[in-house]
Amino acid sequence: MNLQPAQPEKLNAWERVILPDVPGLQKIDFYLANGGYKALKKALELKPEEVIEEVKKSNLRGRGGACFPTGLKWSFMPKKSDKPKYLCVNGDESEPGTFKDRQIFEFNPHLLIEGTLIACYAMGMTAAYIYIRGEYGKWIRMLQKALDDACANGFVGDKILGTDFSTHITIHRGAGAYICGEESSLMNSIEGQRGYPRVKPPFPAQNGLWGCPTTINNVETISNIPVIIKNGWKWYSQVGAVKHPGPLLVGVSGHVNNPGVFEMPTGEPLLEIIHKWAGGVPGNKGIKAVIPGGSSTMMLRGDQLEGIRMDVDSLKAAGSSVGTAGIIVMDSDTDLIQVITRITEFYYRESCGQCTPCREGTVWMYKILKRFEQYQAVAEDIDLLMDIANNIEGNTICALGDAAAWPVQSMIRRFRDEFEKRVHESQHRVVA
Ligand code: SF4
Repeated sequence: MNLQPAQPEKLNAWERVILPDVPGLQKIDFYLANGGYKALKKALELKPEEVIEEVKKSNLRGRGGACFPTGLKWSFMPKKSDKPKYLCVNGDESEPGTFKDRQIFEFNPHLLIEGTLIACYAMGMTAAYIYIRGEYGKWIRMLQKALDDACANGFVGDKILGTDFSTHITIHRGAGAYICGEESSLMNSIEGQRGYPRVKPPFPAQNGLWGCPTTINNVETISNIPVIIKNGWKWYSQVGAVKHPGPLLVGVSGHVNNPGVFEMPTGEPLLEIIHKWAGGVPGNKGIKAVIPGGSSTMMLRGDQLEGIRMDVDSLKAAGSSVGTAGIIVMDSDTDLIQVITRITEFYYRESCGQCTPCREGTVWMYKILKRFEQYQAVAEDIDLLMDIANNIEGNTICALGDAAAWPVQSMIRRFRDEFEKRVHESQHRVVA
């Protein structure tokens, strides 16, 4: 798999800013020599509310899946609070098909640290936690080294750069549960509790970590902050799609010749990403299906990709979403029954079991899909499967329920023929 910096040359005029083509940038000397921590200095010369305004006007949307406007989220934090305020940076990157945040940990960790500091300054926080999935041992060590260097150079700690601003950053290692990427279970996990999602409201901005005001942002989202402060909101808002601007880390996996993570402006055509950036499908086979934003996003048919772009509006109009921009490509020979069975098994195993529709529904869907996979399903199973998915969607404490239902719903809507074919084959199968 191609990781940074193996990007195709000059596919567009975009000069990478999240993962620039600067070898050694993970070292603090190189980072400083290339303008590192200047955005922090600039931010500290502004008032905190001016920094929030800058982020608001940039139109940055969260890169962790929900695409919520970041500046608006920040403005939900109380300006004055008699409790401490916290920032949680979500690096529990566990969504199948998603592997972008680890590029930042490895190739540009100081950008993340600088963004974390600016966010803390803007929202008046004195502590931040960067939560990383437990399996990312190598990347945790890399980020820890960068953090140690940033502390040693006076960028993290007390009276940063000689100002009254002080903040401390702690790296928290997860223990392997997908559900801890959900913001409220992430906070429970940091507190040392079981990783159960919390019922909302109250929302984290009022009642988050240890009952204190808290904001949770994704790693890539926070890494965009120094870029905004350095270049200004006007520049940033003119990059890519109007309502969803900025650079986007797009991971492409599955049946492509050149899988990897590519930085590009939002709004690039999906077909161009697959055929040009990711080198097309091996053997020039056709595309049967594409998952555009990690396994929980709605599956698209290969023959409906024309005109779809990697931005929030375009993918919404196509009946899916950007999610975490983890594109999974499946060629014309792919057994989609196997794919959806595997995806559903993942969500069934990762369900925390707190609410009935998710706990029971995911295992029912998995068992029915297993019947399809093993040529034992009957025609009625298709609608039964849809009925279960519909009863999970919107009826659970957290979004894992929807994440399990959407791939199944979209597959039945868009690939009903695959299920019908499997039923037909089951009825006419000659067992040796
Ligand atoms: Fe747990 Fe699933 Fe309910 Fe989320 S939706 S709280 S993962 S049971």
